[in-house]
Amino acid sequence: MIAPLEVEAIRRDFPVLERDTDSGHRLVYFDNAASTQRPVAVIEAMNDCYRHYYSNVHRGIHTLSEESTRAYEAARQITADFLNAASTREVIFAAGTTAAINTVARSWGDANIGKGDVILLLISEHHANIVPWHQLAERTGCVVKFVPIDDEFLIRDEVITKHLAEHQPKLFAFGAASNTLGTEYPVQRWTQMGHDAGATVLVDAAQAAPHWAIDVQAWDADFVVFSGHKVCGPTGIGVLYGKEALLEAAPPFLGGGGMISRVTVDGFTTHELPEKFEAGTPPIVEAVGLGAALTYLQNLGMDRIHQHEQRLGTRCDQGLREIEGVRVIGPQPEHKGGINSFVIQGVHSHDVSQFLDGRGVAVRAGHHCTMPLHDALGVTATARASCYLYNTEDEVDVFLQAVRDVRAKFA
Ligand code: PLP
Repeated sequence: MIAPLEVEAIRRDFPVLERDTDSGHRLVYFDNAASTQRPVAVIEAMNDCYRHYYSNVHRGIHTLSEESTRAYEAARQITADFLNAASTREVIFAAGTTAAINTVARSWGDANIGKGDVILLLISEHHANIVPWHQLAERTGCVVKFVPIDDEFLIRDEVITKHLAEHQPKLFAFGAASNTLGTEYPVQRWTQMGHDAGATVLVDAAQAAPHWAIDVQAWDADFVVFSGHKVCGPTGIGVLYGKEALLEAAPPFLGGGGMISRVTVDGFTTHELPEKFEAGTPPIVEAVGLGAALTYLQNLGMDRIHQHEQRLGTRCDQGLREIEGVRVIGPQPEHKGGINSFVIQGVHSHDVSQFLDGRGVAVRAGHHCTMPLHDALGVTATARASCYLYNTEDEVDVFLQAVRDVRAKFA
């Protein structure tokens, strides 16, 4: 039995949750899949850096630079521990999930993928894990293929096996959880299946890192990426984890200061890992904030966070399914965390979102950067309610009542 989160105490860590929206209602923040809010611990850690010891890292031989460098590298160690990475050499700071996947596509991809090679993705992928591979296809002539979902919005192992066998992909790249369907996928098992089929495996953990414990060594994935702003950290920073041997072998993507050990008029030699992939001044204060955010989550306990989200997600899912004219776009709650997308018959999701905003409830409306999935489902847009560690059951009930009222108003 996992102890429940003390949500009222947690809420006091997030000042923004005390505000009202323009409608005069207390904010119910259900847009966490797009971006989470920050606790005071993160805001203060970044503030402290700017106030007391900020400087550029690695290059300066003075007090502030040394303190900033220590803080930056301490954040890397926290991140490595959060991922259970074998070494900080495997932890690269990037601007976010999108930047991290583009780095893999440009460095490992350009070096290893050729004409006719297959990149296998899930149809539920975020555009961040589709477009860089389309761009790689434009550069190299490789082919991007997709694994479909079934009528229950699920992807069964045998479908993955079939596509791996049929396409023999060089790369199998999948999201650990779908940001639209909310489905949480069996990362370790699918990574093993990808490897058994001879593929390199990339896991987009943007919707996993905030919600459950990641163990990259147990997963055994070759690349794992996530974003700071979805784990209660700052924008402008994310993480590219890569197995050391792969990162060693891959050429650097961006060139410039920081990633070199020597530059001459004839050329350059690259720095060792992880700096090899961190050209230019890195996101120093953002790294400090990310370290504080990951520490905050770990102090609460990832298992407790996940349990809390599943409870709220289930309440949302079941409540939505009881409302006439509402269709949940996602599988049954046992397959999901805190994300629920839905459509209301005869009402555009933008109108749904606007109406809910009038009740203080922030949800997202649109395609959630999963256009191929929406195309496959035959819907142009959905509304998405996504809960996180600071949300409450009362807030779920406010949300469900507002959805009932949308139905009553527009039906
Ligand atoms: N992958 C998934 C599954 C996401 O949910 C998101 C963000 O919504 C991204 C990638 C892109 O993340 P970022 O915009 O932080 O680069």
